[in-house]
Amino acid sequence: MEQVFIGLGSNLAQPSAQLRQAITALGTLPNSAVTGTSSFYTSDSLLPGQPRYTNAVVALATALAPLALLDALQAIEADQGRERGVRWGPRTLDLDIVLFGEHVIDIPRLKVPHYHLHARPFVLYPLAELVPSDFVLADGRALSELLAACPFQGLERMAAGPADA
Ligand code: ATP
Ligand code: MG
Ligand code: MG
Repeated sequence: MEQVFIGLGSNLAQPSAQLRQAITALGTLPNSAVTGTSSFYTSDSLLPGQPRYTNAVVALATALAPLALLDALQAIEADQGRERGVRWGPRTLDLDIVLFGEHVIDIPRLKVPHYHLHARPFVLYPLAELVPSDFVLADGRALSELLAACPFQGLERMAAGPADA
């Protein structure tokens, strides 16, 4: 089994409900189990003029291979009405593989650790809820250093927990 972290994001059609539905779907993947869910956060969109995003990170223990997991995540996105238009456009659901165990993968379909992780407070802060404070990424970077270089700017931790957000 590999320990995988998945970043979730939504800014359309009841984002918190989208995230809860996605977490349920992740729990039904073959040979996989959800082992942790961060708080939900809201964040500024990467492009201006969009509704705020709701984000979370889920820990998934899985025996799926990386590309099989990516296929499964894209199927869940499609099930929840994800349409691919403008890059970083509004979406019902985005599921990104943030980390896949100790793997470093750099092919066009899949880059892990996620290529933009260091610049995304809406990934780093929820991830930090799920791992020890001395956590080191597969590529050798310490999470604490990434956090120190990435202000909590534009991010808001939602008062309600994932169960009742
Ligand atoms: P960003 O990648 O900047 O977060 P995005 O999530 O909106 O943008 P998508 O449209 O969801 O981008 O995905 C575009 C492509 O990125 C996917 O088809 C997938 O093959 C590729 N990809 C590369 N690395 C990853 C990863 N770690 N997790 C998910 N998809 C990835
Ligand atoms: Mg993304
Ligand atoms: Mg994506």
